[in-house]
Amino acid sequence: MTTPTPDIAIPPDLLPVDGRFGCGPSKVRVEAVEALAADAGTYLGTSHRQGGVRFMVGRLRNGLNELFSLPDGYEVLLGNGGTTAFWDAATFGLIERRSQHLTFGEFSSKFAQAAAAAPFLDDPEVVDSEPGTHPEARASTDVDLYALTHNETSTGVAMRLARPVGATEGQLVAVDATSAAGGLRFDASETDVYYFAPQKCLASDGGLWLAACSPTAIERIESIKAGGRWIPASIDLSIALDNSRKDQTYNTPALATVFLAVQQVEWILENGGLEWAAARCDRSAETLYAWAEASSFATPFVVEPADRSSVVATIDLDERIDATVVSAVLRRNGVVDTESYRKLGRNQMRFAMFPAIEPSDVAALTRCIDHVVSALG
Ligand SMILES: *Cc1c(COP(=O)(O)O)cnc(C)c1O
Repeated sequence: MTTPTPDIAIPPDLLPVDGRFGCGPSKVRVEAVEALAADAGTYLGTSHRQGGVRFMVGRLRNGLNELFSLPDGYEVLLGNGGTTAFWDAATFGLIERRSQHLTFGEFSSKFAQAAAAAPFLDDPEVVDSEPGTHPEARASTDVDLYALTHNETSTGVAMRLARPVGATEGQLVAVDATSAAGGLRFDASETDVYYFAPQKCLASDGGLWLAACSPTAIERIESIKAGGRWIPASIDLSIALDNSRKDQTYNTPALATVFLAVQQVEWILENGGLEWAAARCDRSAETLYAWAEASSFATPFVVEPADRSSVVATIDLDERIDATVVSAVLRRNGVVDTESYRKLGRNQMRFAMFPAIEPSDVAALTRCIDHVVSALG
């Protein structure tokens, strides 16, 4: 069934400097890797219970606090297992009885599935919308947590974060920000739990989860635990809270992942913070969507411009051109991971425009695609 990839060489002057456009794991900056190599002899392979690593974890927690301008009382928690493990942790440790989920793609559906499967919770309220759009949360007296997704990575839809109109005191707003954190603007006071993993906008590696938690969220973690619910230790948020306050994790974290995340957070802060990073992503997005709109064969998948993500772009191709062939030719030329999200099942390409990715490389990417499509004839 697989057709051979056409032998098309992209002229070197058209190629981006860095060919990584995947949505996660995503481009890690060379400078960050060099910094890790320079510190490796005193950092890698040392105890995560001692000062060196704890200092690095502290830098990450403080850096995120500053990056997100967290209100007083918010705390950054971390643990192992990435966002998927955090959904399980949240199912056990954040949902009191019933949650509401906005589902509009693969990732936003997964937390809803985790909550639905939990025998100790009531079936969640699910508000869904077609891929390429997003639903709005609806105030409901019957739920104690609203589950939002800042950027649906499978479809390239971003949503503005706000507490649902009419939401009451004590109802938590939990936001999956895995592909948004550090690249999209938001007001932390509109959220109680802003959680993510660092292999996307934070240009690090996978396997860790991070969560900026409000005092209300911390109270919830403590009250569910005090209520006696059985929670497996590795995903127990009360244990994560205790450890995070000591700049530690319950079990051993990947030290390189922590280090690379610190490099990225501090790089963004040195350059001007979240506004700088978001503006950089905006520039990439303007280039990419303007190219697609002007193109005779490409169209932005997300119809409503306000919903188009500036960190993940999904672009449909005319049916005469097989998107998987274009991605395969790009891959052969060192421009990788431009395939669309497989389960979406469209003739589509998908590109990350995370802060680590140079806007000039995004412009180069569009020229490479034009070259490949014209060579395919
Ligand atoms: C990548 C991604 C996830 C999954 O993250 P893991 O760390 O691999 O579990 C979840 N949600 C969103 C929005 C993502 O982009």
